[in-house]
Amino acid sequence: MANQTGKTALITGGTSGIGRAAAKQLAELGVHVVVAGRSAERGEQTVADIRSAGGKADFVQTDLQDASSARELAKKAVELGNGRVDILVNNAGIFPFGATHDMSEDDFERVYAVNVKAPYFLVAELAPRMAEHGGGAIVNVTTMVADYGAAGMSLYGSSKAALTLLTKAWAAEYGPSGVRVNAVSPGPTRTEGTDVMGEGLDQLAAQAPAGRPASADEIAEAIVFLATDRSSFIYGATLPVDGGRTAV
Ligand code: NAP
Repeated sequence: MANQTGKTALITGGTSGIGRAAAKQLAELGVHVVVAGRSAERGEQTVADIRSAGGKADFVQTDLQDASSARELAKKAVELGNGRVDILVNNAGIFPFGATHDMSEDDFERVYAVNVKAPYFLVAELAPRMAEHGGGAIVNVTTMVADYGAAGMSLYGSSKAALTLLTKAWAAEYGPSGVRVNAVSPGPTRTEGTDVMGEGLDQLAAQAPAGRPASADEIAEAIVFLATDRSSFIYGATLPVDGGRTAV
């Protein structure tokens, strides 16, 4: 892939799993990556790993809860990017599973805050700036369970379904200004976040043609494709990277 030196990317949840893999792959292409998350320890470790491999990286500690935390993160990323952010990867997400009747209002607020509100206000802050600078790319990370009804995943799946629609809405809104907005929809993927699922992850993955969970790097490949000019004519698409689960 062409060298991407000179670009800056903000990757939310860049301190773990899929986000960290995407940050590392983008850094290998020469992109200055700004990784964001709550854990300073994981953030500093990610930055140290990228720098020791010759890449350029910074960490911003943030708890994405609302519009102000999203706007503050966007501001810091712009500062670190010397006035511009060319790529935004809305990857941070939480996925508590459980029956609808077991979810509290607090669970509902938390899931929608991280999975929907934070991406919404990051885009509000960064997409117009990208347009001012002649363009950019935004990649939202959704999930295969935003595409079909799965028991125990109503809260999580619905929040990501909102992000799928926002991907199209933002493509309509910002595409004409040169900002491409797309999404990657992963299937079961081995990360720190899914460790707790144990064999449940394999059972879920067994339902798809691929028959196994993905690695974080396999999902990151698709994110990087949509974040860079190799996908220059793709706008508003959601790419399933789910081992074929939603195809069958
Ligand atoms: P993960 O290992 O749990 O990582 C989640 C990341 O999000 C961490 O970097 C975490 O950082 C960050 N984060 C969570 N809450 C945050 C908050 N309030 N403020 C700021 N950052 C926050 O998850 P993953 O498995 O890599 O998943 C990444 C994305 O892919 C998520 O959106 C998830 O829904 C989606 N996805 C995953 C799978 C899968 O099977 N793994 C499948 C489909 C979709 P800190 O802990 O440092 O805050």
